[in-house]
Amino acid sequence: LQRIEVKIENRVPKNFPTVKFLNYKNRKRILVTGGAGFVGSHLVDRLMLAGHEVTVVDNFFTGRKRNVEHWIGHENFELVHHDIVRPLYLEVDEIYHLASPASPPHYMLNPVKTIKTNTLGTINVLGLAKRVGARVLIASTSEVYGDPNEHPQTETYWGHVNPIGPRACYDEGKRVAETLSYAYMRQEGVSVRVARIFNTFGPRMHMNDGRVVSNFILQALQNDSITIYGDGHQTRSFQYVSDLVDGLIVLMSSNYTLPINIGNPVEHTIEQFALMIKDLVGGTSKVVELAAVEDDPQRRRPDISRAKKYLDWEPKVPLAEGLKRTISYFAKELQRTKHSQRD
Ligand code: NAD
Ligand code: UDP
Ligand code: UDP
Repeated sequence: LQRIEVKIENRVPKNFPTVKFLNYKNRKRILVTGGAGFVGSHLVDRLMLAGHEVTVVDNFFTGRKRNVEHWIGHENFELVHHDIVRPLYLEVDEIYHLASPASPPHYMLNPVKTIKTNTLGTINVLGLAKRVGARVLIASTSEVYGDPNEHPQTETYWGHVNPIGPRACYDEGKRVAETLSYAYMRQEGVSVRVARIFNTFGPRMHMNDGRVVSNFILQALQNDSITIYGDGHQTRSFQYVSDLVDGLIVLMSSNYTLPINIGNPVEHTIEQFALMIKDLVGGTSKVVELAAVEDDPQRRRPDISRAKKYLDWEPKVPLAEGLKRTISYFAKELQRTKHSQRD
């Protein structure tokens, strides 16, 4: 007992970021599944700063404690190591359901697990929401449109997904997650919100995430070849993570229940994107073309009229600005890994 007392006395109090004071009526108990991941941790920051009580549930497959460590020990914060494929019993008012790997190399690593996470995991989340009367926001994806025949993609487009291809575990998993959400809404009266998220980037992306933004930036920073898969004429539209977080929060508080695209409509070919990053980073990297990947969607750009009309939301951060912040994050990460290898 004596030893424990000494430990407590010696504990240095942690300096938490200052959170807003919310009275009991306005303070919500919010569950963020996948909250230790890239997007989830930024969302957690915003919800914590706004004064809510936040519980993160994560199995740390692609997420990291480091992303939320600045909140560990705060009285409004709880971090639960749990796999969403298993049932969980909590009392909450709102659920942001983000648990799922998002990067193609990650979700293809264990396709069966990706399907289980998006189907069984989503059933558990919806079952929990039904029991406690919580509102659920599902993190869906532009991948529900597959390799689209319509351009740009509006929410009324039903998509063009190969149901048995290498991306199917994710694409079909998310399509089922949407189907489940509306089945629980119609049958059980669960309040659901569905965000179809388009390519998002920013600090806290995993170093070996494998997505184009992290690959290109890390390659440019290390003067390695910048690897374009295929001819580089395929397009993507990239949004900065703070814009996505704004969109998720306004969607959760809105009355709009149909799926809604959250993305930045500024479209670039992957080749243009490679040159832009090379330009911003400087260095001596060459841009090289590698084999194309199977079922790679050729064009992607969100039509965000719905989000503008019903949420009064549109992205604010220009691509170059977001890329600069992300480049500086990855430069620091590279320094960190160099130091830890030396230590
Ligand atoms: P991420 O991989 O950084 O985060 C996902 C988090 O979910 C990680 O912390 C991971 O450990 C956790 N997780 C995975 N499986 C789990 C399980 N079975 N149980 C509990 N936790 C689990 O990815 P992200 O980019 O932050 O994506 C977050 C969400 O947004 C995902 O649902 C993703 O499908 C969706 N989304 C992201 C993008 C994007 O460009 N980042 C685009 C479309 C959709
Ligand atoms: N569930 C959960 N937490 C809860 C309530 C339910 O994890 O607080 C899970 C439970 O395991 C169940 C699933 O959610 O399998 C779906 O719940 P629902 O009530 O729809 O189904 P039922 O329990 O009737 O099979
Ligand atoms: N891509 C690329 N080089 C890389 C990584 C990705 O050319 O090192 C391409 C990929 O083929 C796709 C686009 O960049 O056309 C976006 O890929 P990402 O994996 O980031 O996300 P997706 O939108 O395909 O889920």
